[in-house]
This record gives sequence, structure tokens and C-alpha cells, in this order.
Amino acid sequence: MATYAYHCAGCGPFEVRRPIGTAEPAEPCAACGEPAPRRYTPPLLARTPAPEARARQAQEASAHEPQVVRRAPAAPEPPPPDPRWAGLPRP
Ligand SMILES: [Zn+2]
Repeated sequence: MATYAYHCAGCGPFEVRRPIGTAEPAEPCAACGEPAPRRYTPPLLARTPAPEARARQAQEASAHEPQVVRRAPAAPEPPPPDPRWAGLPRP
């Protein structure tokens, strides 16, 4: 079985599962029944969620093209002193 993508002009994209090689050039829309033309998509590439695709691209880029820095990043600000420290015994 394969999943074929179609796009209804009024209702949007939908998918139909059929045996391989039996896809029709148009399928009736499941919602309105109007004929919807088939959309050709790259197999298993269009289903990767956009955030996951960006994360994968960033990971690959950092492995092969690490960002060059000219100086060390600034040290973080130290936390403010706790006022209760004034009450501690002094040596
Ligand atoms: Zn429709």
C-alpha cells in the first residue's frame, strides 16, 4: 500500500491509501465529493516537521561548519550577595 496526496480546491490537502501503481490522477474529495487533482510530493521528505528539520540542519551544520568566534563569550554576572551573609559569624 502507498499513500497518495491530493488537494481539493475548497477543502485542502488529503491522502488516499491504495496499492502501488493504482493512483488515479484525481480522487473525489472525502469532505465535499468534488474531484481533487493529485499532488506529487517527495516520499517521506515532506512529512518531517519543520522544527525537527531545522534542528537536524543545525546539527549537521555545526558538525561540518562550526561557527567561528573571535573572542570568548562574556562571563555571566555573579549573583547578588545574600543579605543573610551579614549575620554569619566572622573569623
Ligand atoms: Zn473538498
